[in-house]
Amino acid sequence: MKRLVPLLAALVLLPQAAFAQTESPTPEIQQVPSAITSLLDDYGRAWQTHDVTLLGKTTSGKFARTDSRALANAGEVNFAEFKVRTLTQFSGNLAYSRIRSLYPHMDVRTYQIEQDTRIAYESKSYEEDGAFTFIRPPSGGGDYDGWRIASKNDLDVLGFFSPSNLWDSSPVSILNGQHFIILTHPVVTQEVRPWLAVAEKAFARASAFWPGSDVKTIVMEVPATQAELGAITHDTADLSNFVAFVSSGVSREHGYAPTGPRMFVNIGHLLHYPESAQISVLAHELIHALTRNESGPNTPTWVEEGLADDGGGTESLFSHVLRGAGAPTNFPPAEKFVTGGVSDIQAAYAEADVAMQVLLDKFGRPGVVKFYRALGAERVVPGTETYQVRKALQDSLHWTYDDWVAAWRQRLR
Ligand SMILES: [Zn+2]
Repeated sequence: MKRLVPLLAALVLLPQAAFAQTESPTPEIQQVPSAITSLLDDYGRAWQTHDVTLLGKTTSGKFARTDSRALANAGEVNFAEFKVRTLTQFSGNLAYSRIRSLYPHMDVRTYQIEQDTRIAYESKSYEEDGAFTFIRPPSGGGDYDGWRIASKNDLDVLGFFSPSNLWDSSPVSILNGQHFIILTHPVVTQEVRPWLAVAEKAFARASAFWPGSDVKTIVMEVPATQAELGAITHDTADLSNFVAFVSSGVSREHGYAPTGPRMFVNIGHLLHYPESAQISVLAHELIHALTRNESGPNTPTWVEEGLADDGGGTESLFSHVLRGAGAPTNFPPAEKFVTGGVSDIQAAYAEADVAMQVLLDKFGRPGVVKFYRALGAERVVPGTETYQVRKALQDSLHWTYDDWVAAWRQRLR
């Protein structure tokens, strides 16, 4: 289940809000039958090796048909990794009465799952979670003790979605670039191919601003239509102004570990922009992608967005909304980036851009990197976001938060 944060020109998924956890593994709420664990091992293997027979052994009913069709659609996709496992540290059997009634006379289990995929030479696994329903006749027996995967959509009504990918709807074709693996559909391949050169220019800009990232190759999913993009994002965001976003997650089973980023592009919208703006928007998103591993639960939205705007070149999209009077007393809170009118949201971006520009001007890019890393390294720790920003600023740059706010307000006047 991916949560998307819609923006105006660009859209990005930031790490989900943090909650404190211990470093030791979180105990499981319910023991999952070992037959279901084996079933999921084989299900992942079936996808990774494109083994439609094995896939058929692990699935049942309507789901078996839709999933084998999806596997055929993904025929060109080289999965270096495809793993699905249950995640019962945060929930047990989620098959409540409504779900059980869908499968009369069967044993029913619905578990949260995590699906890790890595495509070809993608730098890091992309992690998605969701919920799979498993059923078997009460007598059990046979392969996997009778268990089969019956659905991955039973919790959709609660907004708890399972992974939805490009290959679920129609055949996927692959375009390879120096730093990108593009997944798209045959119908738009010709339109997308020349644009790969633009994406490479954006990568050059983003990686010059943020060198040394462990993300070297990025998978970009380019749906053929906005409706398809809506299906992938479960229609949880207004895509009418959407151009591109980066999606990534955090694994919290052992503390706080960011997972690999993937990029999604609304190509129909992006191509309406002049090439210079296309490069800036993509470079903005790529900075989010390149910094993911060094971001932490206390890294505020205004730090992320200011950094991506100043480094990517999108700050010029927002600078016009800065008002001469009434400078705010503090950096913009996260909700200001997603709520309110268009000009309010643009103002939040503009304020964030100036905040990070103040830091860039005073300490240079290396200083900003030092601060960002110090802040992101504080993960499973007590203290509010502002406390951690104050502390990281003091520890890394020996500057005070109050001086930063004052310098920022001065620049906003
Ligand atoms: Zn952004």
